[in-house]
Amino acid sequence: MKVKDRTYLAEAPKEGEVTFLSWIHGLRVTKDGLTIKLRDVSGVKEFKAVRGLEKLKLSKESLILIRGFKKGDELTVKEVKVLVRAPPKLPLDPERPEPDKVEDFVKYSYLTIRSPKYVKVFKAQQYVLKYIRDFLYERGFTELLSPLISPCSDPGLRGAKKLRTSFYGRTYELMSSVIMFKQTAVASLEKIFFVARNVREEPKENLSTGRHLCEFTQVDVEWAFADMWDAIKLGEELITYVIERFVDERKDLLKEFDRDLEVPKRPFKIISYDDAVRELAKVGIETPKGKELTFEGEAKLPELYGGPVWITMYPKETRGFYYIEDGERRGYNRDFNLLLPEGQGEVIDGGEREYRYEEIVRRIKGMGEDPATYSWFLELAKVGIPPSSGFGLGVERFTKYILGLKYIWEAAPFPKVPGIVPSP
Ligand code: AMP
Ligand code: MG
Repeated sequence: MKVKDRTYLAEAPKEGEVTFLSWIHGLRVTKDGLTIKLRDVSGVKEFKAVRGLEKLKLSKESLILIRGFKKGDELTVKEVKVLVRAPPKLPLDPERPEPDKVEDFVKYSYLTIRSPKYVKVFKAQQYVLKYIRDFLYERGFTELLSPLISPCSDPGLRGAKKLRTSFYGRTYELMSSVIMFKQTAVASLEKIFFVARNVREEPKENLSTGRHLCEFTQVDVEWAFADMWDAIKLGEELITYVIERFVDERKDLLKEFDRDLEVPKRPFKIISYDDAVRELAKVGIETPKGKELTFEGEAKLPELYGGPVWITMYPKETRGFYYIEDGERRGYNRDFNLLLPEGQGEVIDGGEREYRYEEIVRRIKGMGEDPATYSWFLELAKVGIPPSSGFGLGVERFTKYILGLKYIWEAAPFPKVPGIVPSP
């Protein structure tokens, strides 16, 4: 439906004829008459003492076409058409979305997305993606479209389960991460990235971290012939570039979120996993032997070091098979995580890759898995994979950090979260 001479709320004249095509965001009857909040793509505006609407039985979230006369915040309605009438009671009110009530927030994400706060979040997220792409394009990385299914996907999932589907009678896995495709692509393109959607059935208890989704997005970067230190440098340049552009160009958005975002100073602190474990023990946070740091520990470390921290050289057995073992420190990978402050924890995970056929097979067996599961990747490894380094940056986690959101489900338009079904 096309409306001629439509007036967007944000562009309405102080005084004059208007034609609004808007959603009823709020409704209140006061002693002076009706107060109505209208919402369209340009924002929300409140009108007092609206004359001409009193008799219509309007409900919130109805879509109306109003022709009338506007004077300041008073609206005299000449003609009104209800194009979509919403029921009198809604399961979730877009005027007051409550991210603390995660079950409703997720179940009714089809209404949450109408809330002005989340419209701003998704507009901000598009800039996160744009600035990331600007940076990587400028550095000569080629963006590839990511696959969704494959006979095998990333097994290094920290307790999460992979999801499977049937494909011409074969079992295929939904992409838990595109790691193997990254190693495949750098043979020809050398510097690549995907903006890849990943699916993982996270343990139910990960809901309480506020930073685990079951469907999330990684900017997954890979760079042939680079070592882990090159990848770390690239990662922190990427993070600071995006934050810097937000601070310079999106002050208005940051202000709306009451966010005092600082550009972190480079170089970021780098410590080894072993040192991290020792430092955490000093403040009473124990790490189970040979295991990943706890979520609590990951949140604490940036606080201890006063900014973003890289953790390097994780014990081999904590990780997937695709990290290369350090030549000197046996039993440790040449890998890294970036932890951000304010309780954010891990946003980047990466490292230098194992590319030698025999070693990959050994690592897969070491994880107790059948190498046959990874047959196409092993066939490729026999042909040859170039050495490379790379990382994955969680887009929703990074958005959450940039805007200072409380929960990660606020940074996904249609969130799927640990343990909560059904959802859109
Ligand atoms: P991983 O390979 O599991 O370390 O994931 C790589 C990156 O993706 C992490 O550093 C996070 O930024 C992000 N990520 C991983 N798991 C999740 C999840 N369940 N929800 C949201 N982001 C995630
Ligand atoms: Mg990780």
